[in-house]
Amino acid sequence: MSDMMYFDHAATTPVHPRVLEAMTPYLTQVFGNPSSVHGFGREARKALEQARDQIAAFMDADPQSLIFTGSGTEADNLAIIGGAMAQRERGRHIITSQIEHHAVLHACEYLEQEGFEVTYLPVDETGSVRLADLKEAVRPDTVLVSIMYGNNEVGTIQPIEEIGTFLREKGILFHTDAVQAFGVLPIRVRQLPVDMLSVSAHKINGPKGVGALYLAKKVPIEPILHGGSQERKRRAGTENLAGIVGFAEATKVTEEEMDDRVSKYKRMKEEMQAVWKEAGIAYQVNGHPEMVMPHVFNVSFVGVHTETMLMNLDLVHIAASSGSACTSGSLELSHVLKAMHLEDSVSHSAIRFSFGITNTVDEARRAAEAVAKIVQRLVKRA
Ligand SMILES: *Cc1c(COP(=O)(O)O)cnc(C)c1O
Repeated sequence: MSDMMYFDHAATTPVHPRVLEAMTPYLTQVFGNPSSVHGFGREARKALEQARDQIAAFMDADPQSLIFTGSGTEADNLAIIGGAMAQRERGRHIITSQIEHHAVLHACEYLEQEGFEVTYLPVDETGSVRLADLKEAVRPDTVLVSIMYGNNEVGTIQPIEEIGTFLREKGILFHTDAVQAFGVLPIRVRQLPVDMLSVSAHKINGPKGVGALYLAKKVPIEPILHGGSQERKRRAGTENLAGIVGFAEATKVTEEEMDDRVSKYKRMKEEMQAVWKEAGIAYQVNGHPEMVMPHVFNVSFVGVHTETMLMNLDLVHIAASSGSACTSGSLELSHVLKAMHLEDSVSHSAIRFSFGITNTVDEARRAAEAVAKIVQRLVKRA
């Protein structure tokens, strides 16, 4: 796979060698159940709490406020379903946005079946939620708002501080899906007006199948998994210790490298655009021009359909995406691009490049050259 170029890190990332190394002993020697009182269990418990401390420190949170889950999806479900159910006697109105990940949207749709009402806020053409729309949507029975930190398809960073500050005044719970922003933006929950925040290990070079929900003190939540009393009775099930240790190591590596990664991703975006300008091909960058995550680059090449571009890139061993992994493979237009109300020719030719730690600026240049060749070949023929 060495001649392959992978630009789909928003879908998932490879496990960092240091992460694998940190995890291995917890799959072999230290296999105890953290709930057991004997030595094997105590050793596992110690590792679990050390991992919790590390991840909490990385996001400037109280370690006790972290609940480990089996994915970012589960963290979103726990926040939304658990947060709504705990408050159902207070009110049954929830607000989210049209551009959320399906883990949030489908959890909200489930709540609609359970008697909740959900308002799905629109976004502007940059993919940003407008505070004015949120203010208008709030009702006396609104109990929960969920707005993502950074969008996984176009990269737009939402006005989380403004939204959270407004909701604090109103006394309404605020959850943010920070799965995609975590690791590329500095997230310090103690300084953020959020009550719940979801993260996932496999988006930051940790293993798949581990996530966490930050839950501020005194925030009411009902568990969605029922069983043992793990995670202070908020998430039953024996902890994925090796995965959690890997998650912690991934945050450690990220902490050390974040600044360098971010500047590399910015240079990659610049390099790709320089190639396209030089080649004289038309392109349009989707998402917000400034409030955008450095690793997500969503670009349209009008005249070349998304699926055609992806297939042609795959032929030259370049992996990119149409946006969300869940909608690729189907020709259906992404709900995010739809919500942005771009012209059809723009949304039907959108490609998402998402960068990761092993990518180089040279790779970005070569990928951009490949794109330029494809555009020149296909648009000339048309
Ligand atoms: C990947 C992703 C998720 C889901 O996380 P998993 O750990 O894959 O379940 C949720 N939200 C966003 C924004 C994501 O990018």
